[in-house]
Amino acid sequence: MTSSLSAVAYLGAAILFILCLGGLSTQETARRGNLYGMIGMAIAVLATVFGTQVTGAGLPWIIGAMLVGASIGLYAARVVQMTQMPELVALMHSMVGLAAVLVGYANFIDPAVSVGLSPAEKAIHEMEMYVGVLIGAVTFSGSVIAFGKLSGRIGGKPMLLPARHWINLGALLVVIYCGYAFMHVSNAAEAMTPMVVMTVIALLFGIHMVMAIGGADMPVVVSMLNSYSGWAAAATGFMLSNDLLIVTGALVGSSGAILSYIMCTAMNRHFLSVIAGGFGSEGGSPVAAGAVQPAGEVSPIQPAETADLLREAKNVIIVPGYGMAVAQAQHTVHEITQLLREKGVNVRFGIHPVAGRMPGHMNVLLAEAKVPYDIVFEMEELNGDFSATDVAMVIGANDIVNPGAQDDPGSPIAGMPVLEVWKAKTSIVMKRSMASGYAGVDNPLFYKDNNRMLFGDAKKMLDEVLAALKSR
Ligand code: NDP
Repeated sequence: MTSSLSAVAYLGAAILFILCLGGLSTQETARRGNLYGMIGMAIAVLATVFGTQVTGAGLPWIIGAMLVGASIGLYAARVVQMTQMPELVALMHSMVGLAAVLVGYANFIDPAVSVGLSPAEKAIHEMEMYVGVLIGAVTFSGSVIAFGKLSGRIGGKPMLLPARHWINLGALLVVIYCGYAFMHVSNAAEAMTPMVVMTVIALLFGIHMVMAIGGADMPVVVSMLNSYSGWAAAATGFMLSNDLLIVTGALVGSSGAILSYIMCTAMNRHFLSVIAGGFGSEGGSPVAAGAVQPAGEVSPIQPAETADLLREAKNVIIVPGYGMAVAQAQHTVHEITQLLREKGVNVRFGIHPVAGRMPGHMNVLLAEAKVPYDIVFEMEELNGDFSATDVAMVIGANDIVNPGAQDDPGSPIAGMPVLEVWKAKTSIVMKRSMASGYAGVDNPLFYKDNNRMLFGDAKKMLDEVLAALKSR
């Protein structure tokens, strides 16, 4: 492939990636957006593999590596459960970080890379390698810890080292000093020491940063690591002089940064206080999901009675949460919705921005079950409507409907906007036990007079509600 043809292919791929991101911003166009992204990526890979930078001898290696990578990807796509998607995404972010580190070291070790460069070009290239490895290492280790936390292999409680801010500041100063040393030593052998020291510090910093974040702040970390992975890819693009990788990395990096900002706004948190960590640790020992057992009287309800309430209602709002994903109850939810709508009930869905375990988690599940987009609303669009709602049905959600966020200034989630389901005539919470949610905090909603608890697996309970609805 000639260089001008590959430039045209790269331009086409970059445009498709921009269209992809645009498409992903609404549910109606998300499928099309994904398609654009897939076509763009296919063009990008083909243009790179058959481009001018790959020599004939390297081609079999690249094709071999692609076959191995594609097989792993296909296998993962087939076996991964929908509930494991967040941790899979975190794992993929870690791969981008690792790739940036490896490309940085490969560039550093290969003497041919800097042959023919002017001193200024050489300095820029060294800076690219140093920064690329730095971002890549933080992304890699941070994402591995995020993977552990999201999959439950590492506890959700924040790990707070004494004087952690000073440790971080000290690490930053050492990294800056190593960068100076890296750029000013006379040969590659001497430059290796500051490079390795910086890499170790960056890896430890990534671990420390994510370990210090707990509970409900994880969504911000997930989107932040998404952003880092984009910047790591852009850094790799600089090192490899690959324009498309720079553009794509910048797109992912900036969209991830915007998403982090949206998540912070949704949770009423300041970005810096999230990064500083320690959420959920106030007032004693930190909490872990499911650890806090609420105390108080609750009123249980049975599926048949739930069906009666739904049948008699005029307005129903369904609030799905992580438990709906665990139970894979979205298809039954859709069937119930259809049935109620046929009976003239106004059914709508209220989606909290951090519901589930990844941004857009609930929207993906509802789209998969073919719930019409026009009855799915954002939290702020619906929150004013609960007082005119007969039944608010909470399916496997907990933190996102916790009134303590508004009423209890001492609550670790104080200030986080929540769906005000308790303002409905009746709220029904569907979950298996009285266990807490991801943030590990008690939920006073459960004991409100107008709240009923439908205990059991959400799919099983909804199947019974559906059967009861159909029986009359
Ligand atoms: P929560 O984790 O607060 O609550 C989910 C509830 O679902 C649990 O209390 C659990 O109770 C119940 N549940 C689990 N399995 C089932 C099942 N099979 N059937 C019925 N119920 C079930 O989830 P929310 O969606 O309310 O809130 C999301 C939380 O996750 C927030 O704290 C958010 O900050 C955090 N988070 C979000 C991310 C994102 O990007 N969206 C990323 C990382 C964290 P029980 O065990 O009693 O059944």
